[in-house]
Amino acid sequence: MGIHNIMEELVLSELDKICNSVKKDNVQDICLCTQCRLDAACYALNRLEPHYIVSSRGILREEHFDAGNMQKLVDITSLVYQGLKQVGINRRPGFEHKDCIEQKSDEAAAYFNIPVIIGRVFDGRSFEPVRGIDIELFLNDSPVKMKDANWQNPFRLIEKNEGAFTFWPVSIPAKKAGEQKLFNFSVKIPIVDALPLIHYFELPVVSEKDIVNSLAMNRTHKIADLYVFDC
Ligand SMILES: [Zn+2]
Repeated sequence: MGIHNIMEELVLSELDKICNSVKKDNVQDICLCTQCRLDAACYALNRLEPHYIVSSRGILREEHFDAGNMQKLVDITSLVYQGLKQVGINRRPGFEHKDCIEQKSDEAAAYFNIPVIIGRVFDGRSFEPVRGIDIELFLNDSPVKMKDANWQNPFRLIEKNEGAFTFWPVSIPAKKAGEQKLFNFSVKIPIVDALPLIHYFELPVVSEKDIVNSLAMNRTHKIADLYVFDC
């Protein structure tokens, strides 16, 4: 059981739908790479009010969103679309913006599909979102490999991110499906003239038969907002 922001699922699932339809006729040349998709998701999530529910895992959005909430869905759709356009105009420099990822299954019997890890960094004095720094994700003190080479780790906070960062770690082979394992992650934020700020968090994941490559099918894990000084 935990507290969960249902908006995250809704935004990711709308994002998937929009990207699939854009793919067919991309007149506006919107970038559909995974990083731009997630940047767009953050853009929308930072502008939507969170909607919290108590959850175990595997929430069915249909249960929580009926016809009465149609207006909200329309808002989500338009914000996601707006986000994709904004992100496309200011594409992240320094990598290839290749089309969507496909982590190939290998011989493993099952996989731990790590959720997309989302967080925000604020300046501890001004409470403004932090920009222009590199945040790095570690698993047991080693840098984490992302779903594909297109993905950034370290993740550079650019202006458009409003302090939000996202990581989507590669799925990790497991012996069998249904196995629960606790993963020890940390994010490292550089601080000028001092030791970096390291935020540790644990993430329980249950292994599944298949690799999840679709953002909409994947879960998200939001870590606590981080406040830094002199970064
Ligand atoms: Zn892109």
